[in-house]
Amino acid sequence: MIQIKDVTKLYPAKESGNGTGKDNNGSSIHALDHISLHVAQGEWLSIMGPSGSGKSTLVNLIGCLDRPSSGEIWLDGQNVAGISAAELNRVRCEKIGFIFQQFHLIPFLTAVENVMLAQYFHSMTDQKEAAEALTRVGLGDRAHHLPSQLSGGEQQRVCIARALINDPRIILADEPTGNLDAQNEEIVLRLLREFHLQGRTIVMVTHDPVVARLADRRIELHHGKIASQEIFSMADEEQLDEVLEELWVLAENGEIAEAHDHKPFVNPCHEALKPVAVSSGDGTLIVELTPRGRERAGSIIRRHRLAERLFTDSLAMDSETEIEQQACKFEHILSPEATDKICTFLGHPRTCPHGAPIPPGPCCGISSASGARLIEATRSK
Ligand code: ADP
Ligand code: MG
Repeated sequence: MIQIKDVTKLYPAKESGNGTGKDNNGSSIHALDHISLHVAQGEWLSIMGPSGSGKSTLVNLIGCLDRPSSGEIWLDGQNVAGISAAELNRVRCEKIGFIFQQFHLIPFLTAVENVMLAQYFHSMTDQKEAAEALTRVGLGDRAHHLPSQLSGGEQQRVCIARALINDPRIILADEPTGNLDAQNEEIVLRLLREFHLQGRTIVMVTHDPVVARLADRRIELHHGKIASQEIFSMADEEQLDEVLEELWVLAENGEIAEAHDHKPFVNPCHEALKPVAVSSGDGTLIVELTPRGRERAGSIIRRHRLAERLFTDSLAMDSETEIEQQACKFEHILSPEATDKICTFLGHPRTCPHGAPIPPGPCCGISSASGARLIEATRSK
């Protein structure tokens, strides 16, 4: 979704007595120094680093608020580094939602008018839609208040409603909880988690390591360079993979019972799983796979069953336990490219050696909808 290639951003070093804002000896500040970075669609990236390390500069460049001095910035397949200011505006309106630490609300416009102003820049104003956006962030009853009549947390939620009005695929948040109390921080983070579940790509600057941990990955900037990078908790991820796998097989075999007599939950607890109900009888928790969870479970199952096929058909392994053990390892380590290569090599098999269906992948030329039908068909068999 976001591809940054060798990007540098120079600012002229301000020198005393010069007054032009330009340096006279050719020195300048490297706010970003030959940075390359890739953010996948639906990924949540957090950026940390000391003050002045280039975090806001990076976010502003991704957000088409500014252009790099050199390098390329690809957003959703388009290089925005060299396009005109008018085009930059259009890309920003279409693809980007901004959440700033300083909320940047217009002080003499009410909450709903601030949201409508964003609509105006995007397409057409629609008060009903703007009011609905405010309701979604829990501000339905504050629509006609001025920013000065709202708390910091409420102003940040207006800012979020405004960011969402164009249904952006990329959300950029520069210290979104920097000025908030604990309760409002919780609300804002819950909204970000929801956007992540909806499959939006999020780039978030934060000083708080606990907040950073909500992301899929964290990078740290020092002096305009990426100093370190951390992908969060492989072990946890693998455990989750196991749970997803089990849920998938249960659903495939029609073994998840219908829920009766339940109380709905509202908060998502994980990007892959969402509690939907708890039975008032015995307190059993009922969870549902989110679209991301379903996609992820499907791809783990695909890796596992393709590995089984590979070991059985091509490597002629015959010990059931050995095959199972190896497949359990492979399901965690196969890259999407390697998985597609194995699938193609095996001639896109539709079932594992035990006859269970293999969810089709991008290489199979079958849409995931027909993949779902395939599973429906096996289930009704
Ligand atoms: P961070 O968000 O990590 O605190 P910034 O991206 O805001 O850092 O700034 C990185 C460096 O670039 C700093 O040295 C800052 O002073 C400089 N800088 C940022 N914006 C400008 C600007 N508009 N003009 C000149 N220098 C700037
Ligand atoms: Mg900053």
